Amino acid sequence: MDKDKKKDIRSLSIAELRDFFVQNGDQAFRGNQVYQWLWQKGIHDFRGMTNLSKSTRDLLESNFVINHIAIDRQQKSKDGTIKNAIKLFDQLVVESVLIPTATRTTACVSSQVGCSLDCKFCATSKIKRMRNLNADEIYDQVVAMDQQSRYYYDRPLSNIVFMGMGEPLMNYKNLIASIDKITQPEGLGMSPSRITVSTSGIPKMIMKMADDEAKFGLAVSLHSAIQSVREQLMPFAEKFPLEELGSSIRYWYEKTSRPVTYEYVVLKDINDKEADINALVDFCKNTPCKVNLIEYNPIGENEFLQADNDKLMAYQSALEANRITSTIRRSRGKDIDAACGQLANKAVKI
Ligand code: SAH
Repeated sequence: MDKDKKKDIRSLSIAELRDFFVQNGDQAFRGNQVYQWLWQKGIHDFRGMTNLSKSTRDLLESNFVINHIAIDRQQKSKDGTIKNAIKLFDQLVVESVLIPTATRTTACVSSQVGCSLDCKFCATSKIKRMRNLNADEIYDQVVAMDQQSRYYYDRPLSNIVFMGMGEPLMNYKNLIASIDKITQPEGLGMSPSRITVSTSGIPKMIMKMADDEAKFGLAVSLHSAIQSVREQLMPFAEKFPLEELGSSIRYWYEKTSRPVTYEYVVLKDINDKEADINALVDFCKNTPCKVNLIEYNPIGENEFLQADNDKLMAYQSALEANRITSTIRRSRGKDIDAACGQLANKAVKI
């Protein structure tokens, strides 16, 4: 069989692996053994599957490949943030970021190579979407950062956020498959409550996640609760009016009882006026929620500027007066272009 035509074995479910062995005259449990090597032990080479006979390993070798990621470059910020350039099997590159704080280490993972959306303030939007990441490529980023967290900070990963490159809900099937692997005991065994999926706000997909009884957290990149302002920042939002977004979030809350987090970059002269604040407060009355006010991270063009600190404070006090919890996300890893919205691997193909 031509090597390039061989299937990536990690695209198979455990049931498919079991079937493969039965069809090849072996026993189904062999599939479980292989699954464990692939997902729990993270083996990248059939020869390393030491409880299989040589003929079984040869059988696998002649039918499959094990695609895997490689950390191509690692940069460490003075605040401890680590940015990884991750090389994929087809030489494309994505980035992922490990963010340590006093109490947590959070992995920020990518879901696509580039992005098909057009958020004006985000560096990733400058790279066209080249392809979706496979479930194993998303999973591998998490495994790599879990190892980094243990190595550099002496503790396992505590949280995972899908806030790297790409729009996770436009790669839904692989997103869910990767979360399954992260949470299953045969994988990393992490609690889904420590995972947050961040979306630019695609109502149909938010409802699908609610129907699928997602157990992880949902963050929505809102940035404005005024339709015209939001469209100016995120032109695709024209297709998803705020009303529709709001009702999909209500649906999410009814089905999951989990409050949504709104991500909100405050930009000078764009969304820092009283009318903007009032609109956000109103929008927040839709369902229980939390607001994460984000400092704008420059992306090399001068179109946008970070709002003055007193504007952020004005947002916070208005939210507080309406009993809406808010936090301010201060930039991390800015010196190495690892902060929110700065992921745009300067050389995509290396
Ligand atoms: N596509 C998803 C996830 C990736 S973006 C989403 O839109 O949510 C992760 C977060 O970073 C989003 O909230 C995004 O709006 C924010 N972000 C993008 N560019 C930014 C910038 N230049 N400064 C600060 N935050 C930014």
